[in-house]
Amino acid sequence: MPLLPRRFKRIKHVLNRRMSNLTILIEEVEKPHNLSAILRTCDAVGVLEAHAISKESAIPTFNSTAQGSQKWVKLKKHESIELAIGYLKEQGFILYGTSLNASAKDYRLPDYRQPTAFLMGAEKWGLSDSALKSVDESIFIPMRGMVQSLNVSVASATLLFEALRQREHYGVIPNDGEGLNEALYDQTLFEWSYPEVAKWCRDEGRNYPKLGTNGEILESLPRTSKFRC
Ligand code: SAM
Repeated sequence: MPLLPRRFKRIKHVLNRRMSNLTILIEEVEKPHNLSAILRTCDAVGVLEAHAISKESAIPTFNSTAQGSQKWVKLKKHESIELAIGYLKEQGFILYGTSLNASAKDYRLPDYRQPTAFLMGAEKWGLSDSALKSVDESIFIPMRGMVQSLNVSVASATLLFEALRQREHYGVIPNDGEGLNEALYDQTLFEWSYPEVAKWCRDEGRNYPKLGTNGEILESLPRTSKFRC
């Protein structure tokens, strides 16, 4: 089935506003609805890729709370929190660990225009000591009620929308694809437009074909393969 130009336009419109320099690392989320809600927020804010730790116990599967957002926000899995932190630091992210400690900073104070990664902790225990030791800054969302903490997905949304608010305020929000480098933009555009063809190309070790202005594939592919857009 060919990709409709209308659909391609919509995909480009959303991708043009994605940011590769804003992300979230979820250290340990046990509940599928929380992970789903976090990814849905990432999609709404324009996060290109989120990160999670995948230990022996698998990352929970998505449920209807995600509303399909897992198709539009990549979840990169890391084997340990140390490896995830190392990866994000290497990419130039400033790491903000969430903590309920008195020494943490009000989340509205840092400047999130720089590459920003928020580290979110487990529902029961919060972020591990190992994670908190490695972050650049600890932040918290001030609470005025009887309960000490927010649900992790609510806290994630609060932080991501604050980063978005600041970037909008300072006019550094991408609207035309400038939130991703060209290679990543083309790669993501192809994967979003033709996920099955993209998988087939990866399995075959082939480069993704080029796309025309209306999203048409500018290369003939084997007829035997059945692809859906
Ligand atoms: N007892 C845990 C603790 O001491 O951290 C509570 C964990 S809380 C339910 C789960 C996660 O949500 C936290 O690790 C943090 O990432 C985030 N969170 C919840 N409330 C927060 C707040 N007020 N400020 C910042 N992050 C918060």
